[in-house]
Amino acid sequence: MELNPLMAKLGTESAFTVLNRAAFLAAQGKGIINLGIGQPDFPTPPHIVEAAVKALRDGHHGYTAAKGLPQLREAVAADFEARNGVSLDPERLMIMPGGKPTIAFAMLMLGGAGHEILYPDPGFPIYGSMAAFSGAQAVPYALTAGKSFGLDAEAVLEKMRPATRLLVLNSPGNPTGGVTSAQELEKLANGLQAWPDVWVLSDEIYSRLYFDGLTHLSPMTFETLRARTIVLDGWSKTYAMTGWRLGWSYWPQELIDLAERLAINVHSCVSATTQFAGLAALEGDQSPVLAMCTAFEARRNAALARIAQIDRLSTVQPKGAFYALVKVDGLTCEDVQNRLLEEAGVATIAGTSFGAAGVGHIRMSFANSQANVLEALDRTESWLGSVA
Ligand code: PLP
Repeated sequence: MELNPLMAKLGTESAFTVLNRAAFLAAQGKGIINLGIGQPDFPTPPHIVEAAVKALRDGHHGYTAAKGLPQLREAVAADFEARNGVSLDPERLMIMPGGKPTIAFAMLMLGGAGHEILYPDPGFPIYGSMAAFSGAQAVPYALTAGKSFGLDAEAVLEKMRPATRLLVLNSPGNPTGGVTSAQELEKLANGLQAWPDVWVLSDEIYSRLYFDGLTHLSPMTFETLRARTIVLDGWSKTYAMTGWRLGWSYWPQELIDLAERLAINVHSCVSATTQFAGLAALEGDQSPVLAMCTAFEARRNAALARIAQIDRLSTVQPKGAFYALVKVDGLTCEDVQNRLLEEAGVATIAGTSFGAAGVGHIRMSFANSQANVLEALDRTESWLGSVA
């Protein structure tokens, strides 16, 4: 079978493989605790579900504009401005079927043979996968434990080449919960002035999930970055809506028509029902978002305290999202991922799924009850004690 050679470049997200295996073992009656997949364990707030049901009953069954419902784009712009103090032009906003398609669109548009795309390592596996799939050279830049997995502007700037076309930023970051400091972002903004051909993709999917009183800082707040930044955000993590497939992206003036054209070619539009749910989420009660974030922070605190008591485990304190990248001494992380699941019923993800820098680590998600997170750590401790 002759395939497009680029198919060989396409990676995957092993969280979905682990999710399947965990579901299979659970269906066999095994007591599985899933700290693998990155989705809130809370249900979508009821007023959002009701808005979707109402939209269906009201007859919103057809296509919408490819960019999305105008009132939803206006609500996204208002929400972004309220949180970041930057006004967005609703005409440059795209409502998307989740966060991932924006990564694909940006990379197809700006990647391709002869171009380089910079992305964080450790980082969300789709960045490297889609960058390579576009035909571009996927070039990782390091996030290190020494800098609490926050952005190191120098490490990014030293990877810049004339062929670089896109730089991916992700704060708070998957798989570490690391956040970008204002100083590093400013250094980056200054350094990027020397690289006018480089666009920025700012993945802000965890922008509402910060701990320790920290708040989000978008590259859009920097005047010099604003015209070249694509913003990705969405409802999946903030409103516990991973299965609804609803996200948004903001595009520079030069790219918005191409983004719309890609949408028309690929998915036409997002389901109207889902868009009405998204509108209710933005315009309705925000207390469920706060409650989830508070719960994630409490679980992080409990998990970190417990991890500190376990021999061979250590981690850097995450400042947002709902993950910790945990170092495991003396074992390969793939072994830990596989054996911990099969032998102790705890699903985690091997650090190497997030890039070479994840070696020796596993990602644990706090998107499970505190009791389950602590039980999973008890099981991990006993399991580690039983292996050489
Ligand atoms: N970006 C990051 C950093 C993520 O962790 C995820 C999901 O895990 C996404 C994007 C994709 O979000 P969605 O499920 O809305 O496509």
